[in-house]
Amino acid sequence: MAGRPFFERVALIGIGLIGSSLARVMRRDGLAGHITVCARRPETLASARQLGLADSTTDDPLAAVDNADLVVLATPIGAYGALAEVIGPGLKPGAIITDVGSTKSSVIRDVAPHVPKGVHFVPAHPIAGTEHSGPEAGFDSLFEGRWCILTPPAGTDAVAIETVAALWRCTGALIERMDSTHHDQVLAITSHLPHLIAYTIVGTATDLGDHLQKEVIKFSAAGFRDFTRIAASDPVMWRDVFLHNKDAVLEVLGRFNEDLTALQRAIRRGEGDVLEKSFSRTRAIRRGIIEAHQAGTFKSTEPEPDKD
Ligand code: NAP
Repeated sequence: MAGRPFFERVALIGIGLIGSSLARVMRRDGLAGHITVCARRPETLASARQLGLADSTTDDPLAAVDNADLVVLATPIGAYGALAEVIGPGLKPGAIITDVGSTKSSVIRDVAPHVPKGVHFVPAHPIAGTEHSGPEAGFDSLFEGRWCILTPPAGTDAVAIETVAALWRCTGALIERMDSTHHDQVLAITSHLPHLIAYTIVGTATDLGDHLQKEVIKFSAAGFRDFTRIAASDPVMWRDVFLHNKDAVLEVLGRFNEDLTALQRAIRRGEGDVLEKSFSRTRAIRRGIIEAHQAGTFKSTEPEPDKD
């Protein structure tokens, strides 16, 4: 399928930062005839209506997917399994179900068993975000120039994959296909571990004595401020990411701890050459990111601690 896709009826389950940004693109480009938004809280649904992102709203996921050609799961990933179980029987033959979750193997494990035969499941992960949440936080340029990784299981309908890819191309995203396990390993190091480190540093600072805490805030521009921004990311979303990408995160965390211990030893022994060599190597990585045009504004899933 080439060009723009068009869906008669879209069901968005979850309308936070990511769901609402996608909805804005669908509205802007006229990609959907009718958008039904599903969330739990009435204020979220009211907000989706006020922002013009929903033609209809409901707190009932099964009702939301009724007659939908495209269903997008955009809640925290911990809710996916239960949601898939509820909506599975309501998915119409030929429909596409996709998602935006930050982990992919767990999503396939939790969702695929509930997808009926004849419905096409194409997992996706846009690598873009901010530390803000909710329908008001979205904007239609969020995905521009960012990667969207598709991880369709073997045997997924090629037309359905291309349709989801075409949808994400409309957002300005670049498409990459990957095995879900590989995705989870890559994201564990590029996104999940940096968030864990940020949460830890900010937590450590919070536990300091009162007098030190005040100075941490006052002099935060020295580097700490950027960690606080990453550590302001949604606690529920990130709780779910760590619980659902446990193995890959623990693996990189083990390696990180070893490397940190090596630096600790170098500092203790006064081995300046070891420190300098290590820091020079990492500087080159930063240059590579800039050359790959991935060094824009801060993205929650791709933290860039030295950029605003
Ligand atoms: P968000 O802003 O917190 O929004 C979550 C949405 O899901 C809200 O509309 C919430 O509304 C709804 N929701 C939560 N539980 C629900 C349930 N059981 N049934 C129906 N609706 C439910 O989250 P987000 O940042 O957009 O993240 C959504 C997904 O995108 C996550 O899976 C995350 O891993 C992925 N992602 C996030 C980022 C990022 O940087 N934020 C980047 C890439 C991918 P109510 O609470 O009112 O129900």
